[in-house]
Amino acid sequence: SSFTGLGLNPLIAAHLVSKMSIQKPTSIQRAVLPAVFSTTSLERDVFIQSQTGSGKTLSFLLPIIQDLLPLSSLSYIDRTIGTLAIIIAPTRELAKQISDVLEALLNLRLRPEDESAEDAGSSGRLTRWLVSGLLTGGATRTHEKARLRKGLPIIVSTPGRLLDHLQKTSSFNVAKCRWLVLDEADRLMELGFEETITGIIQGLDGRRKLAVQAVEEGKGMEVGGWDWERRRRTILCSATIREDVQKLAGKALINPMMVKA
Ligand code: AMP
Repeated sequence: SSFTGLGLNPLIAAHLVSKMSIQKPTSIQRAVLPAVFSTTSLERDVFIQSQTGSGKTLSFLLPIIQDLLPLSSLSYIDRTIGTLAIIIAPTRELAKQISDVLEALLNLRLRPEDESAEDAGSSGRLTRWLVSGLLTGGATRTHEKARLRKGLPIIVSTPGRLLDHLQKTSSFNVAKCRWLVLDEADRLMELGFEETITGIIQGLDGRRKLAVQAVEEGKGMEVGGWDWERRRRTILCSATIREDVQKLAGKALINPMMVKA
């Protein structure tokens, strides 16, 4: 089977082949992609049970990138859009690995006919609209705050640093966040991040509620051609379904689809 047969946008599938040398989906990707794209499962949360090395990173990054593709047709993207996807990993090393795969994906060309136009300014690269950021506490908080103020549509972070910014960085706009990924949930639990994750979820829910209230009071945050109102979807990945992971899933996921490979 092919990526396009699973519902992946042909532009993204072509990019996987030509720029990342990825030809055929792995078994977890064959299971996750149709489940996430399915119209009957729209807006449902997802529990992915899978080992590392199975290709699970692309299985959650590809649907997110595809969901954010319509951004490229908006006439402008500015800091008011804020952060649309947050990926949480238990360690800095893992966050860096995910961020590297994400960067490769974001070099996607939206207009393949522009292959000759090499200047970054006018190219159809998705990177022009979707900037990803790695927040792991390695850099100073001031530096990360400055990047958040300019707007980071996709963030890969470790749990503590993300909660820290949610609580202390007033320009960190997550009101329209539409994806939350909790990668390696079993390790998140082993490393004692349960309360931190709960705090992140409460922070995201709280900011969303405030923004919706503001719209109702006429202080708009609408951007045309985009369903900002959609509920945030959460994807949780874990190699095991131990009791502690199920407890976290119970807090983070609503009526999840279980996908296993
Ligand atoms: P992961 O399990 O997400 O850490 O991925 C493990 C490795 O498999 C990474 O080096 C990926 O680049 C690679 N990979 C992911 N999906 C595919 C695929 N469909 N075909 C070949 N390699 C892949």
